[in-house]
Amino acid sequence: MPPVVTDSSKRSRSCERGGETRSIPFGRPMIADAEKRAVLSVLDGPILTHGPLVKQFEHDFAAFSGADYAVATSSCAAALHLAACALGIGPGDEVLVAAQTHVATAHAITQCGARCVFVDCEPHTGNIDPDALEAAITGRTKGIALVHYAGIPASMKRIMKLARRHNLVVLEDCALAIGATIDGTHVGLFGDAGCFSFYPIKHITTIEGGMLITRRADIAERASLQRAFGIDRTPTGARPIPGDYEVPTLGFNYRLSETGAALGIEQLKRLPAFLVVRRRNFQALAFGLAGMDGVSVLNGLDAAAESGCYCLVLLLEDALRTRRVELIEALRARGVGTSIYYPKPVPCLAYYREVCTTRVTDYPNAARISDGSIALPVGPHVSSDDVSYMVAAVASSVKEVCSA
Ligand SMILES: *Cc1c(COP(=O)(O)O)cnc(C)c1O
Repeated sequence: MPPVVTDSSKRSRSCERGGETRSIPFGRPMIADAEKRAVLSVLDGPILTHGPLVKQFEHDFAAFSGADYAVATSSCAAALHLAACALGIGPGDEVLVAAQTHVATAHAITQCGARCVFVDCEPHTGNIDPDALEAAITGRTKGIALVHYAGIPASMKRIMKLARRHNLVVLEDCALAIGATIDGTHVGLFGDAGCFSFYPIKHITTIEGGMLITRRADIAERASLQRAFGIDRTPTGARPIPGDYEVPTLGFNYRLSETGAALGIEQLKRLPAFLVVRRRNFQALAFGLAGMDGVSVLNGLDAAAESGCYCLVLLLEDALRTRRVELIEALRARGVGTSIYYPKPVPCLAYYREVCTTRVTDYPNAARISDGSIALPVGPHVSSDDVSYMVAAVASSVKEVCSA
């Protein structure tokens, strides 16, 4: 996870555009007075958890995404774990997991006692490759856990056809894909459940927090139950005798707080405007970088799809791939914050290397993006001038690194 705030100004030395050096962090939370007021008003009252604001946030998020049900959680990782549990994934099952994703997608499967079988991505989107997915299905396959890489929707129509034919459950990691749609349907609603993150540098934030959306009442019910210890009655209203409850199932404490929900409600109101800026920035940055020597933009978007535009993934050509660290340093010196999505394909991370016995060469497309790309910011903290500045900064950084 990148740091929340990358203060690159201290290290700036080189100057772009006649002496001006900007500081553009990779991500920055956008907290306004409305959010602060909402949080303070929760703190002035008696209800800090198990309250009405979590319910309202769930209602608002369901309305925004078009989901029938939304369950707020303490993180996206928690939502993924709850979803995997609710889908009945367990010991003896194999789940096909995107190799090119955040480790949380895979951990949710592993935490349920099932085995991850990793599948490589498409080179032009970073999303799970439907052909490789089909080839990996066996009699033990229970489901599919995929990500919408950097906000680009995966090929859900093809994937759902496969899933129906083989009777597989489908879990969508939408942590970077708020606002991403296919034919107008929000991602997270194609499979059985979709999970979102409200970590500080995602599209919107509750500081820590997440959301599970689904069209299935049984999944929403099961996830709500397991979110709070598997306890059958909430403290507010449902307990005639205070403190008296039953525990019909195993559970966790994955609740979102009322302050988190208060933040989320206000952030969600601003999300449409945030998305406009993200898309504008992405288009302008992609346009500015098009045709530049040594680099290209990962932008394999289907005609029917709209991206959540989390970041711009800049692919480095061979000559630059081995100089990625220098390029990141050169951008940092120009005040441009960057990140990497992701440091390695998940099966190549130390823990999964041990449990999966796979090799990096088994995931050539994922490895190529992991090793050979740099993620650039397009969030609402980035102005149009910042975008022009970044285009110039990339050009001069590439030149500097190539001539060194
Ligand atoms: C950030 C992220 C997560 C983890 O989200 P948390 O809310 O921090 O648990 C999971 N998956 C993807 C794709 C992410 O980008």
